[in-house]
Order: sequence, then C-alpha cells, then structure tokens
Amino acid sequence: MPAADEIVAPPAIAARLRKLGLTRGDDLVLHLPIRYEDETLVTPIADAVGGVALQVEGEVLDVSVQYRPRRQLVARVSDASGELVLRFLNFYGSQLKQLEKARDEGRKLRIFGEIRNGFLGAEMVHPRYRVVASDETLAQSLTPVYPTTAGISQNALRKLIRPALANADLCELLDREWCRDHDLPPFAEAVQLLHAPPPGAPEAALQLRTHPAWRRIKFDEVLAQQLSLRSAYLARRQKGAPRLKARGKLAGQLLASLPFGLTGAQQRVRAELAADLAQPYPMQRLLQGDVGSGKTIVAALAACQAIEAGWQAAFMAPTEILAEQHYLKLRAWLEPLGVKVAWLSGSLKKAAKKAMLAQAASSAQLIVGTHALIQEGVDFARLGLAIVDEQHRFGVAQRLELRRKGGNPHQLMMSATPIPRTLAMSYYADLDVSVLDELPPGRQPITTKLVSDARRDEVIARVRGAVASGRQAYWVCPLIEESETLQLQTAIDTHAALCAELDELRIGLVHGRLKSDEKAAAMAAFAAGEIDVLVATTVIEVGVDVPNASLMVIEHAERFGLSQLHQLRGRVGRGVHDSVCVLLFARPLSETARARLKIIFENTDGFEIARQDLQLRGPGEFVGSRQSGVPLLRYADLELDADLVELARAMAEQLLRDDPACARRHLARWLGSREELLKA
Ligand code: ADP
Ligand code: MG
Repeated sequence: MPAADEIVAPPAIAARLRKLGLTRGDDLVLHLPIRYEDETLVTPIADAVGGVALQVEGEVLDVSVQYRPRRQLVARVSDASGELVLRFLNFYGSQLKQLEKARDEGRKLRIFGEIRNGFLGAEMVHPRYRVVASDETLAQSLTPVYPTTAGISQNALRKLIRPALANADLCELLDREWCRDHDLPPFAEAVQLLHAPPPGAPEAALQLRTHPAWRRIKFDEVLAQQLSLRSAYLARRQKGAPRLKARGKLAGQLLASLPFGLTGAQQRVRAELAADLAQPYPMQRLLQGDVGSGKTIVAALAACQAIEAGWQAAFMAPTEILAEQHYLKLRAWLEPLGVKVAWLSGSLKKAAKKAMLAQAASSAQLIVGTHALIQEGVDFARLGLAIVDEQHRFGVAQRLELRRKGGNPHQLMMSATPIPRTLAMSYYADLDVSVLDELPPGRQPITTKLVSDARRDEVIARVRGAVASGRQAYWVCPLIEESETLQLQTAIDTHAALCAELDELRIGLVHGRLKSDEKAAAMAAFAAGEIDVLVATTVIEVGVDVPNASLMVIEHAERFGLSQLHQLRGRVGRGVHDSVCVLLFARPLSETARARLKIIFENTDGFEIARQDLQLRGPGEFVGSRQSGVPLLRYADLELDADLVELARAMAEQLLRDDPACARRHLARWLGSREELLKA
C-alpha cells in the first residue's frame, strides 16, 4: 500500500474535496460516477433527436451578439447534414472572439448538449463546446459525471481521479474463485470500468447500478461496513465483564409466582440470555419482539440472574409513564421474593432522589428509571446488567453512557420496533440479536377499522358500548408535530369534547406536560379501572399495558407514522377480550397517508409492517439517526441488495477469523480515516 496517499491539492481545493469525503487517493478511486455522457460518437446534426444529450461536430458559419429579446451570443454551425444554432444567454467577450477566430480559420467545434427544435430550427442552449484540431480523436470511453460540490468542476475531478486510478493499489483482496462463483468481477476491473466504461457499455445497467461492476463495488462497501461493525463488536468482547452465574433459584421463584407460563420463544430467549450472562465478557444483545410479545418478563428473569449472582441490575425506559409502570410491575414481582427495588426518575423531589441515589450506590439490587439513571451523580455499587427498554427511543450517546456506568456491565437492549432482517444485519451487526417471534397464547386478534371522521358519532357509540360491557378505551388525540403548545391544547379540547359527549362516563386525560405524579395517578386510575376512557397523546405509545382496555381510537390517524400506529394499536388486545382499533381519518388523504393506512389496516404482524414501511420510506428515515454502519453506505441499497448483505456478513465473519490482515486492508481501502466514525 502506498504510504503517502494524501491528495495533493491547494488548501482551498483540498477543503472542498474533504467536503466530498475525499482525502486520500483511495477515496478518489471509490468516488464513482452518478452518470455518463457519451462523447465517443459524433452524431450528424440532421440525425440528432431531441431531449437526449449527445455530441455533434461542425464548422462555425457565423457568430453574433443579438439583443432581442435580451443580450445573447448566437452562433450558427453546420456539418454535412444540417445546421444548428448555439445560444448563450451568459457569455464572456472572450467566447465571442474565440468563435470568430474558429470561423475565420475554418476550425471545427465539438459540441455536447441537448438539441431542441426552436423557432428558427434546431438549437442548443448553453452547450459545452470546444475548438478541436481536425485530427483530434474521439473519447475512448464514456465520460463520467461525478457527484461534486460548489467550486469543484467535473473537469477538475476527472483530472484528479484519472491519475489516482492509475497510481492506486487496486490489488485483489478477495478470493478470485469465490468472486467468480458469485458473478463479481475483480476489484480493479470493476473500478476501471465504472470510471471509464468502453463505448457501447450497457448504459442502463450502469445507470441503474445493476451492472456486475456495480455489484462488486456494493459488495465491497457492505463488506467494509460489516467488518467495521463486527470488529467493534469483537473489540468490546475483549473487555472483561463479571460472570453472572446463578443456580436459578430467584428466577425459578419468580416464574412460580406468575399466573402464566413462558411461551416457547420466551424460554428460548431466556436461555440465550442466561448463557450470555455467564460469560466473562459483556453481553451485547438486542431483544426484538413485537408489541405484546412479553419482553419484560424475559428481562426480569435476566435481572434475577444478575441479582442472585450478587450484582445489581438497572432497567431504563424512555418515558416516565413506562418507567413507572415497569417499576410497579417489577416491584410487585420481585419484592415478595426479597429483592430491593429502587426507583429513579428526574422528577423525584430532592430528598427522595438523594435517598434513591444512596440506595443505588449501596443496597438496591434492581434500579428502575428513566434516563435519570445515566445522569451525573448516579453511582452504582456493582452494576452487572443494564437493560434498556425501547432502545430505539434513546440516542446513541445515552446508551453508551449506561455502558460506561459501573464499568462494563452486560447489556440487554429491547425494541418493539421490529426491523427487517437485512436492515437489522446492517444496523445491528455490532450486536447479537434475539427475537421473540411468538405472542403469548389467548390473545384475541385486534380488528382494525378505518372510519372517516364524518362518522365520529358511530365511534362515540362504540366507546359507550365497550364501557357498558365492562371494558375500557383509549382515545388518542391528533398528533400536532409542529407545536407542543397546540398539541397540549388539542388534548385538553378533545378531553372536554368527550366529557360533554360521554357525560355518563369517567374520562381521564394524560399528556406530556402533566407533572409526573399527575401522569402516574391518571395511569394508575386507568389501570385500576377507575377511569373508563383515557384521552391521551402519544405519551402512551410505548409499553403501556392495561389488559382490560379493548378499544383504541386514534384521531387523525393519517398524521401518524406506521410504527407509531402499530405501537398504539398494540395497547389493546393484551387481555382475553375481543379488541378493536378505530383509525379515524380526515380527507383529503395524501398518497403516502393513504398507503400507510392501507398497510396498517391489512397487516397485524409488526415485521411485515416494518418491511412495507421500509419500502415506503427508505432506511435512513426508518430507523432514525442511530450512528451505525448505514451512513457509510453510499452505493448499496439495503432493500435491493439484500443478497449482498447476507454474503458480506458471512464473508466478514470468515475474514476476521481466518485472515485479519486482509480484513484490515479492506477496511483501510474503504474507510480510511472515516472508520473512527464507527468506534462509538
Ligand atoms: P412487550 O414485549 O410489548 O414489552 P410485555 O412485556 O409488556 O410486552 O407483555 C405484555 C403482556 O403480556 C403483559 O401483561 C405480560 O404480563 C403478559 N405476558 C407476558 N408473557 C406472557 C405469557 N407467556 N403468557 C401470558 N401472558 C404473558
Ligand atoms: Mg415493553
């Protein structure tokens, strides 16, 4: 590998190149065209079709500056077949001189642009042109057009990339035979072809990036990403963590006290966690399970193992409502077994907080809370296991913070936003993944109804009916993303309206601006059946679990995202009762809103919904801003190139095991300095 691979350029240019992510020769090699222009052919003017960029050649017949309708430079050129007008609305005086000179000397112009048929016949507006010698040969390859930024012309980029390509080390790093078997051309061949395709190369396949050369590049790119995430995973594994060995007495007692037995999926995941926790390196596991699949008990059983082994467990949830609910549930499960459970949230009064902090630092065995758990001043005595619920709701920084707390605890992350397999492989290549793919038995399927808001009265009647038969209902207020104040006002208005319409019912209200004890009181009253209808904002979106609630009404459902709708709908159907989710919508519906409502109406499986959501939105928006390998993918498309992700994953494992030197060289080629990005 050449050691001095830095691009040599004046500081101003270098700064712009850095903006494009280009600092090394290798970066230039991997800076691939977005499209091509064909300057390998000259089209006779008479044969030129409109609307396609093409090259013609001709002599200048005359050139003049005209003033109608505004000042412009107009040149007339011709070849043997016909005539063409070139029109420049902005031009330099030197251009006029240059064209006059070409006219006087009978020199030819080579012109590239799109022909259109104007008032005075065929013309090109602002074509690219240059004066050529009569023996000048045509381009031998398609002309690449690169992604660029202000201040760097295509020509400048081409002048940098051409020599970089000639000087770079393009040696093959992968097994040639394996590549052949998978229809992947050698690396050198692929980059050379993409920078300079020969005349007649299949432009469509190049443009659509389905050409084998593109597949090779995409494979290499995904491989680099997988190598990077996987090696970060292995590095974390090098660090020690306490072996949490337990005979399983505490977990056994908890299980015996439950009114239900574990599902097969829960048993399987429980065993996976138990095995991880007994290792001398930290568990890094993500537990994915659809809404209602029973993740909490599985996490609680893992916590039992830590506690029995003499360590502490922390359980962090993203909202106060959810954290408090977990606290109450875990306390009810574990305190009777003699476990000391502590509660820590940002809204605790000073004295209470101080007491809790003291407990965390000493005798508490399970500490439940919001992100207050990772704030300054919290010191765990012996943190052995950190559990993060609804992990996608936390920022990367927050999750890292919990990892740093108390040394290097085992980590269990949980998510009810199921993500499709290829996306998971890409986003979570640095984690082990367990899946709860089975719902507890006895769940009644939820019926989803789409109802226009013109028929709101029928929905009111349905609420009345549900309460009359002993059930409870949620009424979710319209989402108003732009303004928290408006959102709050809407919640208050909706509550007032429902109180008037359903004046015989007990109607509660919960929203984000309530004080936490008010929120907790409203939730507790609803859980205890003292409230019939709970009017709520999306604060109830995740985790909330009240099995007697069998009706969910979502107003202006067209404003919500798919995963939000799926989560909200998952608040019902948690008991033995038939449940209904009513999606009230207002016309007119945008096309995407219509598509979303159709998906949620037709599907109940969270994975399928997620898959379709991904197609609708693309991966960036889909998973949020988790800083992971995905920002590194410029070329590969996780949906279209799913097969490559699978291949790259396997190859990454194999290289890291059998040929780490090769893995390092591949990473250096692809990531160079950018790899640091991933070390978070
Ligand atoms: P989620 O995976 O969405 O976090 P929860 O852990 O809140 O789901 O569980 C949903 C409900 O199902 C809770 O009331 C929980 O007690 C109950 N539950 C969990 N596991 C089982 C099971 N194996 N059988 C019956 N009910 C269960
Ligand atoms: Mg949950």
